[in-house]
Amino acid sequence: MVMQHKFVELMPDTIKEGIIYISPEYGTVIHLCACGCGEEINTPLSPTGWELTYNGKFISLSPSIGNWSYICRSHYWILKNKVIWAEDWSENQVNLKRQNDKKESESYYSKNKLKENSLEKQYDNKNMKIAEKDTFWTKMLKIFK
Ligand SMILES: [Zn+2]
Repeated sequence: MVMQHKFVELMPDTIKEGIIYISPEYGTVIHLCACGCGEEINTPLSPTGWELTYNGKFISLSPSIGNWSYICRSHYWILKNKVIWAEDWSENQVNLKRQNDKKESESYYSKNKLKENSLEKQYDNKNMKIAEKDTFWTKMLKIFK
């Protein structure tokens, strides 16, 4: 499932399904639960809350979103606008695995971050190659001048 994101100043009265509303000004992020249950999920941006990454095209939220207090008990990540479902845990498992969950989501996220970093590196390398070409041609042009 792919979500859309919308940067807003204030949250609209009606939250539409499939849209993640982000207010950078107020550090609020609201979307309707990805399972379709209709619950409004609030993931405030703060050092103790969630972290939003925006690469200019897609948004990611970290850590995962665990809607334990809702009937659906959905648990998923939002990575580059994609909803990635995590395993469904019972209450006991939630308590037992809460620490593991944190570790897992962190390592999962850092893995993805690594991927992003390597992509960025590739991109940087490409840029460098272009830059090298430019200097090469600049040099050649200087020779011919
Ligand atoms: Zn739900």
